[in-house]
Amino acid sequence: MANKANATQPEIGVIGGSGFYSFLDDVTEVQVDTPYGAPSDSLFLGEVAGRRVAFLPRHGRGHHLPPHRINYRANLWALRSVGVRQVLGPCAVGGLRSEYGPGTLLVPDQLVDRTKSRANTFYDGVPLADGTTPNVVHVSLADPYCSTGRRIAVKAARGRDWEPVDGGTLVVIEGPRFSTRAESRWHAAQGWSVVGMTGHPEAALARELELCYTSMTLVTDLDAGAEAGEGVSHEEVLEVFAANVDRLRSVLFDVVAELPAEADRDCLCGSALNGSDTGIRLP
Ligand SMILES: [Zn+2]
Repeated sequence: MANKANATQPEIGVIGGSGFYSFLDDVTEVQVDTPYGAPSDSLFLGEVAGRRVAFLPRHGRGHHLPPHRINYRANLWALRSVGVRQVLGPCAVGGLRSEYGPGTLLVPDQLVDRTKSRANTFYDGVPLADGTTPNVVHVSLADPYCSTGRRIAVKAARGRDWEPVDGGTLVVIEGPRFSTRAESRWHAAQGWSVVGMTGHPEAALARELELCYTSMTLVTDLDAGAEAGEGVSHEEVLEVFAANVDRLRSVLFDVVAELPAEADRDCLCGSALNGSDTGIRLP
C-alpha cells in the first residue's frame, strides 16, 4: 500500500489556486488520471523550502469548475498517487460572526457538511475499471483535520504577524449560490464560524486515503446574516482574496517547511483505515 518515496517525489500537496505556484521556478506539469476520473487539472510539481510540493488548482486553471462539479475523489487520489501524504487546503470563506471580518485567517478544527450532490467516499461498492471493487469502509472523522498540521498552521501565521483564529467550525454548503439571510443566520446560531463551498468532501476523502489534511480558511466577506447590507458578491470575494493571497502564500510556504518528514508523522491520519480491507489497492 505504501509508496516508496524517492527524492523527486512530492510529499506535500496544496489544493488551491494558481496564485500559490505560478511564480515558482522550475514547475513541472504532470497529467494524472485516476480510477475515479480526471482531477481538476494537471498537478504542478515544484520545490518550496527544500520540500517537494504538488500543487493542484482546485477549480482548474482559469477557474472553470464550480464547487459542486469538482472531482474531489480524483483530486485526492491523484495527489496520493504521486507520493503526497500531507495535504494543505487553503480556501476562501464567509465569516459567520461580525468579529470574523474580511482578512481573518481561521484554522478550523471542526466541519459540518451541508452539501447535497457530491461523491464523498472512495468506498462505495462500485467496481473500478481495473476490475477491483471497493468495500464499504467507515473511517472516523470525529476530528476532521490533522492535529499536527493545524498546530503548524497556527504557529506559521503568528510568525508572519497574522494572528489566526485557532479552531472553529467550517460549514460547507453546496453552492454555487451564496446563502440566504435565513440560512446564514441559522448557521451562525449553531455556533459555526465560517461558511465555504469546497471543504467537504475534501477532508473526508483525504482521511479515507490516510492523508493528513489541514484546512486554512481566509475570510473574504461577512456572510449574508452576519451584517445588514447587500450580502456577499463574487467580486467582493475575489478582491479580498487577491489582497491577501501574498501573505497567505507566505504562511502556507512556512507551513510546508515545518511539516514533518514522512517518517516522522506522528498523528493518527496515517492509520485512519485501521487495517480495513478496502478491496482496492491505494496508489
Ligand atoms: Zn496528520
